[in-house]
Amino acid sequence: MKTAILGGGLSGLTLARLLQEKGNDVVVLEAEPEYGGLCRSKTDRGFTFDTGGSHIIFSRDAEVLAFMRRMIADNEQRNNRTTKIFYKHLFVKYPFENGLSDLPPEDRFACINGFIKTLIAVEKGELPPPENFREWIYYTFGDGIAECYMIPYNEKIWKYPTDRMSLHWVDGRIPRPPVEDVIRSAIGIETEGYTHQSVFSYPLDGGIEALIHAIAAPIQKCIRTGFRVVSITKSGAGWKISNGDEVIEADRCICTMPLQHLLPCLEDVPPGVKDAAAALKYNSLVCVNIGIRGRVPDFSWVYVPDPAMGMANRISFPSHYSRNVAPPGRSAVLAEITHQPGDEVASMTDDELILEVIVMLQNMEILKKDQVVFSSVERQPFAYVVYDLDYQKNIAVVKDYCSSAGIPLVGRFAQFEYLNMDGCIRSVMDFVASGV
Ligand SMILES: Cc1cc2nc3c(=O)[nH]c(=O)nc-3n(C[C@H](O)[C@H](O)[C@H](O)COP(=O)(O)OP(=O)(O)OC[C@H]3O[C@@H](n4cnc5c(N)ncnc54)[C@H](O)[C@@H]3O)c2cc1C
Repeated sequence: MKTAILGGGLSGLTLARLLQEKGNDVVVLEAEPEYGGLCRSKTDRGFTFDTGGSHIIFSRDAEVLAFMRRMIADNEQRNNRTTKIFYKHLFVKYPFENGLSDLPPEDRFACINGFIKTLIAVEKGELPPPENFREWIYYTFGDGIAECYMIPYNEKIWKYPTDRMSLHWVDGRIPRPPVEDVIRSAIGIETEGYTHQSVFSYPLDGGIEALIHAIAAPIQKCIRTGFRVVSITKSGAGWKISNGDEVIEADRCICTMPLQHLLPCLEDVPPGVKDAAAALKYNSLVCVNIGIRGRVPDFSWVYVPDPAMGMANRISFPSHYSRNVAPPGRSAVLAEITHQPGDEVASMTDDELILEVIVMLQNMEILKKDQVVFSSVERQPFAYVVYDLDYQKNIAVVKDYCSSAGIPLVGRFAQFEYLNMDGCIRSVMDFVASGV
């Protein structure tokens, strides 16, 4: 049985490795000259940056976490998370509900008051159950936390109104603290939230791509880079997959590339399916990488909800994840800017984006312009799935069609779900175990 895997990101490569271990003959078809997808990294002048945004290795899923850590083996630095939210020129502990004592007193009062009043109202049945993400935020956290942090931050990262977002995905993804922790944190007793991420791993050398290389090591011969799939046709019981010049034949075909790239490769897709796929929302990403002389604050990463501070929604400090990703005496800063495909950010030049981020970092007192010794920009067309209110209806139409066409979907933009690396590997493991 020969299996063609479309897309050579983390999902495609892990799938190829696990299928090969079970004796399958596999070929991975990857459009780009390098495999790795969102989990690639680049080293230039001694700085290593992840090109799909700053990545860390963590998971609640013990089996998957053990797999990732086994892959990077000794090439691992373990870190304690020290994450902040930049709010009114203060660095507030993350998650926000665990950092209330860092807030100015009036905001601290508004947050705890709103939280407790909402709890009581929910308890008395006075609040109707939420029907969208914005209502869920108010229902779960109260108006103080909602308006100081949750709504501004979420609208900045998703680039989408929270009242037009679905709430089916929030459980397990957004920290929901116990009441006692919120009260403790408001009066200044140290608490920790989102604890399965409070210690994380990162490769010492090579950035997050080191994980990819370790996974791909035994399957090098099966990977075809520079093979952009443009057509997929049924041929008897098998498939013919082409890049326009060359045809690869396979008994089965598994998609890990974005659905938006899969459907145009297929013949006679019904208009209703095309419309449903076109209606699926996602965000693109710009990463601005800055290398500086000297040190940066001792934080893992910082969320920046306030749009007035600048375009970036998150600032990471990779040189704290691994001591080897910046030259001695230098530090690394990675700013992530999410945006909609084709919007004003997409048309900004690299120089404009770098200047935007340097001004923002200066205003946050993270660095001074004359410390900058390195800068670069990376762009990712597919970064985040955005769960709008029609998401579940549209994705069901597309998935039903792919299933009836006989093409399994595995991975972040093939399943079109907000899957982190662990979620992708879990999907792969479950797929392989199902024996489909
Ligand atoms: C900003 C950001 C930060 C993140 N941080 C973390 C983190 O800290 N921890 C974590 O666990 N996860 C994190 N993630 C999530 C993680 O990056 C993804 O879960 C994972 O990389 C998805 O892998 P994938 O293989 O499913 O998809 P992708 O990496 O998107 O791979 C799809 C592949 O398909 C290829 N392709 C596309 N079209 C074609 C075509 N026509 N023919 C052939 N190939 C094609 C692409 O080139 C790509 O290589 C983060 C994601 C983002 C955006």
